[in-house]
This record gives sequence, structure tokens and C-alpha cells, in this order.
Amino acid sequence: MSFDPERYTHDSDRSALKALQSIPGFSLLIKGFMNLWNEPQERILNMSTRIKLGENQMKKYYDMLPPICEKLGIPVPDLYLELDVKPNAYTYGDSNPFIVLTSGLLKALPEDLIPTILAHECGHIACHHALYRTMGRLVLSGASTAISSVIKLGGLLTVPLQVAFYYWMRCSEFSADRAAVLCDGTASKMQEVCMRLAGWDKDIMADANIDAFLQQAADYKEMINGSAWNKTLEYMIMSQISHPLTAVRAMECGEWAKSDLFNRILNGIPDPAEAKPAEEAPVNDAPASPAEPQKPEPFDILGLLGLKKQDEDKPEQPTVQAAPVETEAEKELRWYRKMAEEGLITWDQYEQKKKELLGE
Ligand SMILES: [Zn+2]
Repeated sequence: MSFDPERYTHDSDRSALKALQSIPGFSLLIKGFMNLWNEPQERILNMSTRIKLGENQMKKYYDMLPPICEKLGIPVPDLYLELDVKPNAYTYGDSNPFIVLTSGLLKALPEDLIPTILAHECGHIACHHALYRTMGRLVLSGASTAISSVIKLGGLLTVPLQVAFYYWMRCSEFSADRAAVLCDGTASKMQEVCMRLAGWDKDIMADANIDAFLQQAADYKEMINGSAWNKTLEYMIMSQISHPLTAVRAMECGEWAKSDLFNRILNGIPDPAEAKPAEEAPVNDAPASPAEPQKPEPFDILGLLGLKKQDEDKPEQPTVQAAPVETEAEKELRWYRKMAEEGLITWDQYEQKKKELLGE
């Protein structure tokens, strides 16, 4: 039986996604992206520019994948190798997500850590992160992609959406790390991955000490006054890094592996009713850390962005004093107009959309 992502998804991932989805304009951003992005094109790019791993191509890496997918309950995705000196791995796609490893990653990490990296990426797929993360990479990354330019020109990517999107991307890393720790059955490999990604290249032969790295994370935690976890999340929101702090990730993995929930999932034991992860739980109610039984204040990303929390049942409404109220149809039409101005659709198509949306 595979691990259920509902059980191991990190609460900060859940709450960051909820916050992101409640920001005005989010549904329009998704719609705009889906109009522009084309999944089959990604596949064409893969087949033409990257190395597809398989039974006859670097089999030792490809063979690492199926057992992980079985544990996480996902179909085996395509796996590609790309030339890039930066150690990295990422997952792209929507209906058929695929994983890409960079040549720099295979050079920097010992081979026994590659399954952990693959399990982390498969964790993103199992947790249904793939589409939004693809969008994040194409729209937010600062890469000058055509999609990114059009989305920005269309005024679809407001600052609050951008910040909240980055923040969710970082929080989603914690869930994927948990999936990797579950697949390994121990936090030690994921912790080593974190230290490797922090700079411990496999060619560096000096004595490296993972315990000291973890102590460094503990010292960091102590260094922050008040609610350490909240401060960490706050820093993650404001910073420009694409992944959470490596030492913090390593520490989180250790705490996850010590938790009751981890042991229950690993051993196929159902949750007692009271221990089920609460959908509405604020970010700091879990994960339960034996070292930190007290509950810090809930983390309020919308507050930090200057946005009020919205009633989920209510339709999307701007929370700031907004100018003349624009209907959803008008907003969407404005977006199509930008696309026509950019030459992405014809003016006839625009007029057709106008009729559909406004009934004119
Ligand atoms: Zn990741």
C-alpha cells in the first residue's frame, strides 16, 4: 500500500496554498497561464534537447525510480538528464509530469543519494504540486519566457500573488522532503542531501559532520526570538531564495522522522481520530515536535501581505479599496485584449470572446 499524501502534506504547504488561492486574481492568473502553456510542447522540448533515461539509457538511474513510485502511489514519470552545472532537480507538467535531473546534480551528489532526490521529486507529483510548480518556474522565476512576459503585460501577476506564490513554492518543499524521508525510512539521507546542496560537494574530501550541521540549524532556531517557526516562514516570504533554507529543511526532516505520524504512516497504522491532520489547522499546530510542545501563534501570510482573510464561500473580492468594480468577465476580457494586442490571438478571436463573455 502506498503512502497517502493527505497524511504527510506539511501544514505550511496547505496553509500557504490556501492563502495563495484566496488572493484576488488567482483564478484569472491560472486561467491565463493555462491558455498560454502547452504541455505537449514541453515533451517535444524534452525529446529534442535532453537525454531521456530508460532501460537502454543510464539504466542505473532510471531503475531507481519505479520502487519509489510504487511507495508513493504514482505512475512512473519520464526521467530526463539536462546539461547544467548547477546541482538541481525539478518536476514539470500537469497530466503527465516528468522529472529532470541536471548533470551538476549527478556530479555533486554521491550515487546513494539520487533515490532520495527522486523520491523528493515524486513527492511533488504525489502531492499534486506539479502544475503550480511548473507555473512558478515559467512565470515567476525571472526567466524571460514568452509566457512570463505576456502574464506580466496582462497585469495578471500582482505583487501579493507573486510573493504568495513564491512562498507556497518554498513551503511545498517541506511536503516533498517528507515524502523522501518516508521512502528512505530515515531522515539521514535527506539531511545529507540538504548539507550537500548547502555546499558539501562530493569532491570535497575534508571531514564533514552532519550532526554539526544539524546543531547549526538548532542554533539558528535559538537565535530567533519568540516563535522560531513563524520567523523562519516570515523570512522565507520576504527572501528571494527559491528553496527553503537548507539547514531548516534538514531540521524539519529530523523532526518529521521523530513524529508519531511518520511512524504510523511508515508502518501502515491508521491515525486515531483525534490525530488526523486538521484541514483548518494553522501552520503552527503541526508538525508536533517533541522539543516544542507549545503552540506558537498562527502564521498569517495574508496579514503580512496587507490582505484581509476572506470567507472561502464568498466569491473573490478585492480586499483593498478598489477602484470601479470590474466583473470577472470584464477582467477576463481585459486579459484577452492584452493577448490580442500582443498578437497571441487574432482580433476576431477577441471579438468572439467578447461576445461569449459579455453577451454582446
Ligand atoms: Zn522540490
